[in-house]
Amino acid sequence: MPPFQLAQFFSNKVFAYSPIPNLERPAVNPCRLSGPVEGKDNWTDVAELLNRCQRHSKCAEPYCVRYNKRHRAKMCRFGFPKPVCPGPKIEQIQNQQWAFFPYRPEGDVNMNHYHPLWTALWRGNIDVSPVLSKNAAINYISKYASKAETMSAELNKTILDLTNSMLDTDRIQLVITKTLNKFCIKGDFSAQEACHQILSLPMVECSNFSNF
Ligand SMILES: [Zn+2]
Repeated sequence: MPPFQLAQFFSNKVFAYSPIPNLERPAVNPCRLSGPVEGKDNWTDVAELLNRCQRHSKCAEPYCVRYNKRHRAKMCRFGFPKPVCPGPKIEQIQNQQWAFFPYRPEGDVNMNHYHPLWTALWRGNIDVSPVLSKNAAINYISKYASKAETMSAELNKTILDLTNSMLDTDRIQLVITKTLNKFCIKGDFSAQEACHQILSLPMVECSNFSNF
């Protein structure tokens, strides 16, 4: 399919502009609600969600500002602010890769790509990007398949600290609950990852073996 037709195909699936510009901040964080409050229409709900969690609000080191070898300057690794785009298009970017650029007005240069239905249902940040080549699909899958999680150096110390401050009669469940709470707060571990570490479950499993 030619790039122009393909861009039209994706133009109603991937968006980068708010359906209601300059909307006032709602009294209640929309991410905390299971759906729009009574009387609020779906587009207002989506626009409030976008303002809350889909905008790249501030570039800062070390989160997103890194040295870019190609541009020989420090810049946002996610490419924000993005250039204004008067209409959907597909263009080749660096490394011979193709990318889709949805319509993007001046007021939405910091908007992540989104789909309104997915944003309304998920009620949090969810980026959407079309996969435009076989290599892009392979790279995406292999990146996540090979991303091994490392054991946190903090886990042993945290459990020891907790057990030292507890009574001998306290149950093990309390240690696990407190450990999970601590890691959830610190953001060092997800609850699922902490469960895997505590139960000594492997973080990575492979279906193929090598003799060398
Ligand atoms: Zn940034």
